[in-house]
Amino acid sequence: MKAWEANIRRVVPYVPGDQPKGERLIKLNTNENPYPPAPGVRRVLQEMDYDRLRKYPDPAALVLTDCLADYYGVGRDQVFVGVGSDDVLAMAFLTFFNSDKPVLFPDVSYSFYKVWADLFDIPYETLALDENFCIRPQDYLKENGGVIFPNPNAPTGLLLSLGQVEEILRYNSDVIVIVDEAYIDFGGISALSLLEQYENLLVVQTFSKARSLAGLRIGFGIGSPTLIQALNDVKYSYNSYTMNMPSLVLGVEAVRDEEYFQNTLKKIIATREKAKVRLRKLGFSYPDSMSNFIFAAHRQVPAKELFEALRKRQIYVRYFDQPRLDNYLRISIGTEEEMEELFAFLEEYLDRWKA
Ligand SMILES: *Cc1c(COP(=O)(O)O)cnc(C)c1O
Repeated sequence: MKAWEANIRRVVPYVPGDQPKGERLIKLNTNENPYPPAPGVRRVLQEMDYDRLRKYPDPAALVLTDCLADYYGVGRDQVFVGVGSDDVLAMAFLTFFNSDKPVLFPDVSYSFYKVWADLFDIPYETLALDENFCIRPQDYLKENGGVIFPNPNAPTGLLLSLGQVEEILRYNSDVIVIVDEAYIDFGGISALSLLEQYENLLVVQTFSKARSLAGLRIGFGIGSPTLIQALNDVKYSYNSYTMNMPSLVLGVEAVRDEEYFQNTLKKIIATREKAKVRLRKLGFSYPDSMSNFIFAAHRQVPAKELFEALRKRQIYVRYFDQPRLDNYLRISIGTEEEMEELFAFLEEYLDRWKA
């Protein structure tokens, strides 16, 4: 080892799902939206004045924050935007979790939370889900330095009711509570309505899943002006221009087309509900997902075997090689046609397996 190597910060990074390339592959492994972004996004992209790229974008990202403030009926001083919700969440960890007491989050959850806590030297404690993979709100009634959980949770897809979210907030008035609502539009009720009562609540959402814009990297947090001001102060302390100009204007365009948004959600939810019935018939069980994926285990065939067989057929799903999760596949909801191909393959494979 060279002497200078001792100065290198060593971390264990988050590992995202594969982005395999190819014509015929079916990609159900990273919870992307199978439908294209709103048509207005394409129009504005094609008409974009490329000379604008010479200039720095608006550091306050006002076109987008104002658009989101309008859409959600909050003040512009209550919205913070970032480079995907990963950026917003990382910034929130840095800004709000500065206690010596541990930050609490579920043991089975978005695996990035642990990575950020380690990166920023934040103490944390994970709380076990119950035997049905549910978050137990009463577990969050203990001394802590902050709370974060996804709702619906990932990779289970299970949703806490608004009452249960409020229970966690009521227990935790002395710390900041972050609700990560990456999948809330697929059938959940957002905690945004609790903002008036809870100044210590930050709701984080993303354009990557429900709005079909994972490639643009847009996420946002909504909270009290005090929280948003603090996030902005931290942001301006390391990079004033997080959001690029095309993302700002294209993001606005996506929000403008409410009808397209609702139709896309409706299609994905309908496909998800059909997929649940089909999976059950094939011998799978799963928590009752309210997101755009299903976390499913087969009663006989090991998940790893199915994962590999699917991959050979160019059908990509997500497999987690960890205790408690290693017999499950996380299957993103694709188009009707993609799901049809998935089920055709599973039927054939499971038939052969029985024989
Ligand atoms: C996908 C996801 C995110 C991050 O999405 P971005 O693409 O960074 O906006 C955050 N939290 C959860 C639970 C997710 O599944």
